Amino acid sequence: MKTIIAKEFADQPQFNPVKGILQACVHCGFCTATCPTYLMLGDERDSPRGRIYMMKAMFEGEPVTQETRLHLDRCLTCRSCETTCPSGVEYGRLVDLGRVVAEQKAPRPVVQKFVRWGLRQVLPYRARFGPLFKMGQLVRPVLPMVLKQHIPSASAKLMAPKTNHKRVMLSLPGCAQASAAPNTDVAAAQVLDKLHITLKVLHRSGCCGAINHHLNDHEKALEQARHNIDLVWPELQAGAEAVVITASGCGATLQEYGHMLRHDIAYADKAKQVAKAAKDIVEILAQENLTDIKVRLREERLKDVKAVGKIAVHCPCTQQHAMQLPHKVKALLDDLGFDTADTKNDHLCCGSAGTYSLLQPKLSHQLRSQKINDLTVDNPQLIVTANIGCQLHLGGAGNVPVKHWLELLAK
Ligand code: SF4
Ligand code: SF4
Repeated sequence: MKTIIAKEFADQPQFNPVKGILQACVHCGFCTATCPTYLMLGDERDSPRGRIYMMKAMFEGEPVTQETRLHLDRCLTCRSCETTCPSGVEYGRLVDLGRVVAEQKAPRPVVQKFVRWGLRQVLPYRARFGPLFKMGQLVRPVLPMVLKQHIPSASAKLMAPKTNHKRVMLSLPGCAQASAAPNTDVAAAQVLDKLHITLKVLHRSGCCGAINHHLNDHEKALEQARHNIDLVWPELQAGAEAVVITASGCGATLQEYGHMLRHDIAYADKAKQVAKAAKDIVEILAQENLTDIKVRLREERLKDVKAVGKIAVHCPCTQQHAMQLPHKVKALLDDLGFDTADTKNDHLCCGSAGTYSLLQPKLSHQLRSQKINDLTVDNPQLIVTANIGCQLHLGGAGNVPVKHWLELLAK
């Protein structure tokens, strides 16, 4: 379709991809069938195709209204539409840029600005989020339900292995997961230790940039990406094999570093290499010999089979649609002999979606109820997932306990 990008955007390199993405869309509407917000609200403006129409008008210089921003805000950036789209439309990249423009042209009310600013000041920083989260856990019993749902009780700490191996992989502790579910990365270290791989933690690393990127502070997200690249790059040069991803939300962003920093001469190449090195741990395990782990698990389960029971596997959108690793965790757990449950509508988002659960609580809770129903059709005793945001969000429903799947493999 003919697309004439307005001069004010055509002149800015960051908007270069817009025209190509808009032109790739043939408006067939296949994507609407797998869009959670369209399925829930039934409004074309809350579908990928409708949002693409609105963004086309916006980038062609038509007026932008509060309504345009509202419909873009309601998008989960789950990228289910990308998986469905037969024309390869990079919707996620388009909506990230569209939101920046919508926010500039149709400014938010002061309260919304303040809330988003507050989230950007707290969530991406371990030193700020960690103490607040711990305080929340202490006073959890007296917190209102809306907050309690986002704060699980503290669980017993796993012990990190001490052995040093020749093979080294890297861990970026990130922001929320290090405070809210520290056992996940320890479990990863334990599993890799069994495979004679040391998981080296880069303690000075920070947030991958996802929170700022999704809250439209792209400059800050780039700054965070550069900081992480500065730490990872020398380790890769020294022989580290991979950056191990245990939170798919962070993995999806790390894998975008090459694209995010493509105009930065000093970082473009390094960003590409770091993005390539970022691998979800399920991908890493799929390439290793897991015989010892299988034997060990079989022995453990003979003692403890009833305690684990049937497990529903939730595949986060960032893992299946962004990193393109659908069903991998379930396949691995099946291979390791776990009893995995049947589930429905695996392609649909649980409603967590980064800060979406905080900014769009009503829609997010509706999606969560639907997801819990779809995950529990086979009456599982446990739900496992691969992303901290989904873990906290689904766990907040309180119906069935929710863990990271790696914890099943920990000692
Ligand atoms: S995004 Fe893809 S599936 Fe959706 S309307 Fe456009 S071409 Fe069709
Ligand atoms: S990213 Fe998800 S919510 Fe947004 S338009 Fe695509 S399918 Fe719908």
